[in-house]
Amino acid sequence: MSTVAEQALRRRTFAIISHPDAGKTTLTEKLLLFGGAIQLAGTVKGRKASRHATSDWMALEQQRGISITTSVMQFPYNGKIVNLLDTPGHEDFSEDTYRTLTAVDSALMVIDAAKGVENRTIKLMEVCRLRDTPIITFVNKLDREGRPPLELLDEVEKVLGIQCTPITWPLGMGREFKGVYHLLEDRFYLYSGDKHRVSEIETIDGLNTPGLAERFGAPYQTLLDEIELLQMAGTDFDLERYRAAKLTPVFFGAAINNFGVRELLNGFTDWAPDPLPRHTESREVAPTEPKFSGFVFKIQANMDPKHRDRVAFLRVCSGIYRKGMTLHSVRLGGPVRVNHALIFMAADRESVEEAYPGDIIGLHNHGTIAIGDSFSEGEPLRFTGIPNFAPDLFRRVVLKDPLKAKQLNKGLDQLSEEGATQVYRPLTNNDIILGAVGTLQFDVVQFRLRDEYSVECVFEPVQVYCARWVTGSDDKLFKAFVDKNETRIAKDHYGDLVYLASSSVNLSMTQERHPDVRFLDTKEHG
Ligand code: GDP
Repeated sequence: MSTVAEQALRRRTFAIISHPDAGKTTLTEKLLLFGGAIQLAGTVKGRKASRHATSDWMALEQQRGISITTSVMQFPYNGKIVNLLDTPGHEDFSEDTYRTLTAVDSALMVIDAAKGVENRTIKLMEVCRLRDTPIITFVNKLDREGRPPLELLDEVEKVLGIQCTPITWPLGMGREFKGVYHLLEDRFYLYSGDKHRVSEIETIDGLNTPGLAERFGAPYQTLLDEIELLQMAGTDFDLERYRAAKLTPVFFGAAINNFGVRELLNGFTDWAPDPLPRHTESREVAPTEPKFSGFVFKIQANMDPKHRDRVAFLRVCSGIYRKGMTLHSVRLGGPVRVNHALIFMAADRESVEEAYPGDIIGLHNHGTIAIGDSFSEGEPLRFTGIPNFAPDLFRRVVLKDPLKAKQLNKGLDQLSEEGATQVYRPLTNNDIILGAVGTLQFDVVQFRLRDEYSVECVFEPVQVYCARWVTGSDDKLFKAFVDKNETRIAKDHYGDLVYLASSSVNLSMTQERHPDVRFLDTKEHG
């Protein structure tokens, strides 16, 4: 087997999805702890502020470093190399989350045992379904009173439309929580409630071991009844169905006390897919191909407060990245020399000598790399499936000092390449309109324009209901459409035309009048 194939097979690249507060941060921390990547839990804590007030978020960003070391984390476990990609907690940054999900091969879904399936979980699941991303489920907070496990699984099946196969099953819950029973191993893992216990926990082999009824009381009987029901329902684990995103293995635990996390991590590293082939405009690229290729799904600015740098996160799709190699930027149509790529460990970042399919490397740049950019060695390969979403919120930019127009444009161009906002320039006037998915994005843009580009501006409401990218296969008809609706058409950062509808009625009427024009709410990057 080639080195690339051997290394690719060891990679497991995934993200955690959940509704805020279900325990994503806590679980991340514990996974790192079990992965040996951090000595003490607590490293990931700083990021928490990101979902609080804007001012906190800004302050946090200024501390730099904190958020970045937690964006991508690599650690070895059970002979595998695990790449965990973090996603922002705040829903205003959900675009970032969606793009991150394009860079993973599987996901871990965390559900709060008391709350069950929540809004954000539903949305994120929809995104995962677009690409049939395999999902492992962790039901968290069993140390608190929650809903009956059968009811929770039923809800996951009905609401999220995926079959559940429990791998572990809770023995009691809340104050009565005694541990979990591992259905595949036929073994109990007992809960002590001790936060610091990582390695030794008591186990008992055999579901029907004598003495358990006396020791555990009613929860044991409940467990026996539930296991019987499960066995009758015949929900056996099937690796193929999990990989096809038809079935989700379910683990139960209490992340805060490290409980159930090791079993989860074992299942994950055994079953989660190694790097999958990726689509490009011309062909499918297998991870085992010898030539390097990859795409950028996230850009993070100002990781180092002393340098106004940006780091582009690239997922390696095939071949080997070697330090100092020249990469071909497909968008720019030429070579980009990358002397300094980083790989991120939990608490550290290091210069990378080599990276393999599934790995995420950070490329330093000063604005030469945009979200969605593809890089390859030799053959230009343009990866597809990195979406740009039509925003829901719009503002007109009003510059306080007109002499700063040049800086403003430069700043906005860079921020839109980072995916921080979308910028529209109407065909018939000099307005600049910003689009975002969440209002916090506007605050961030305003703050960064001031902080990084010394541009003071305010944002005003604007009569835009939605934006749709427009294309037409008939040039003449399309030109007629553009001429007729010129005042409502703008160019996005990449020069593509966008129709800015003033209302839903306006959108549907325009669509009816121009059946030959396509109105799209997503666009491929680049
Ligand atoms: P996130 O918003 O999904 O990242 O959630 P966090 O990891 O920050 O957790 C939200 C809250 O739930 C915090 O107060 C955690 O301490 C708490 N929490 C997380 N896991 C558990 C658990 O297993 N049991 C209990 N009782 N609380 C937990």
